[in-house]
Amino acid sequence: MNKHIELKNIVSLLLLILASTATLIAQSDPNILRYGSCDHGGKGWYTWTGSGSIKVESDPVGLHSGKGVKIIAEGNPIKGSASMPFSYRGEVTVSGYALTTTDTPTKISLQCFDSNSETIAWIDLAFLKTPGENTRFSKTVLIPENASKTNLAVNLSSTGYVRVDDLKITPTDLPDEPSSIEVPTVDEVTINRIKSVETDRPLIALTFDDGPNDLSPQYLDLFAQENIKATFFWKGRNVEKRPELAKRIVREGHEVGNHSYSHPRFNQISHAEAYRQVIDTQEIIEETTGVTPTLFRAPYILYTPKLMEILQSTGLQPIDCSVGVSDWHSDTTVQLIIERATSDKTQPGTIILMHDWSTKSLDALPAIIEILRDRGYQFVTVSELIAARK
Ligand SMILES: [Zn+2]
Repeated sequence: MNKHIELKNIVSLLLLILASTATLIAQSDPNILRYGSCDHGGKGWYTWTGSGSIKVESDPVGLHSGKGVKIIAEGNPIKGSASMPFSYRGEVTVSGYALTTTDTPTKISLQCFDSNSETIAWIDLAFLKTPGENTRFSKTVLIPENASKTNLAVNLSSTGYVRVDDLKITPTDLPDEPSSIEVPTVDEVTINRIKSVETDRPLIALTFDDGPNDLSPQYLDLFAQENIKATFFWKGRNVEKRPELAKRIVREGHEVGNHSYSHPRFNQISHAEAYRQVIDTQEIIEETTGVTPTLFRAPYILYTPKLMEILQSTGLQPIDCSVGVSDWHSDTTVQLIIERATSDKTQPGTIILMHDWSTKSLDALPAIIEILRDRGYQFVTVSELIAARK
C-alpha cells in the first residue's frame, strides 16, 4: 500500500515537471494548438502543449459530451499534456495504442481534478514491451457523483510512438424525480447525431445558435445581399423576447431549429425539465412563426442518453457541427474565425457553427463566403444538406 502511494507521488512529481516543461515549450513552440470545440460553453476549449510532432487530428467537437477527439502524438521522445475543464459527472475513457521503440516504458496518465485541484480520478498506464510491439490500451475513470467542477489532464511521455485516438467523456443523467409531466419513453435510441453530411456536392451549412439576437438583423441583411440561406438554432426564451425578428428570419427563407428554452446543461436538469425545455420551445416557435422545427442542437453540444430519447420521441433530429469557430472565446479574433471556417476541415457536407450574437463572426462572414465560394461551395440549410446525402 505504502509503496503504491510512494509511486503515485513520484509520478505526480514527474508530471509536474513534465507540465512545467510543457509550459516552457508553450511559450516558444509555434505548433501549440489551442482549439475550440463547436459549442460556446466557455469550458469547451483545451490546450495541448508538448514536444515532438503533435497534431490534433480532429476538432474536439463534443469532447465533453460523449464524442471523441483524436490526438496524434509522434516523436522520440514525445512529451506533452492536454487539459480541459468541464463541469459535470460521468465517465472518462482514454484509448489508443502505444508503440515502444526502446526498453524505456511508455507512460500515459489521465487525471481528473476537482475545483480545489484535488485528484478525484486517476489512471496511470505504463507499457514495457518488446521494442517494435504495439500495445492497445483503453481505460475508464469515473467522475464521482459529488464532484462539481472537474479538470481533466492527459499527460503523455514516451520513448516512441503513442497515439491516443479516443478521449471520451460520457455524462451521466441526474436520477429521476417524481414529476407531474409524463415524459414519453422509447425502447431503444435509434437516431444519431449529425455532425456533417456525406455528400459529393459542394454544399456547406452555416448555422447560428442562441438567437434570435439583437444582431440577427445585420446577419439577415448580409444573407439577403449574398443570397444565402442559413440555419438558426433558437432559444425559446429569445423567440418570446423577439417575436417579430423570429418572423422575419422565417419569412426570409432561413431554416430554424430548436436549441432549448433557456440553454441549460442537459445533464444538470431532471428528465421532466429536459422534456419541458424541448417541447415548450417547439410550441413557442410554432406559435410565433407557424413553422415546426425538425432539428435540435443541444446547448454546449451536450447530449445525454435521456435527451436522445426525448428527441427521438418528439421526432427531432440532433445536429452537431464539424467545424466550430469558437466565436464565443474572448481570444478569438476575426482572422481566426476566417481561418477556422475555411481550413481543410471544411469539406463538402460540413456544418459550421457560429453565433449570431457575435460581432466578430459578422465581420468574418464576408471573407468566409468569398473564400468558400471561390472554392466552388454553395451555402444551404441543414435540411437541404441532409437531403443531399449520398
Ligand atoms: Zn448555444
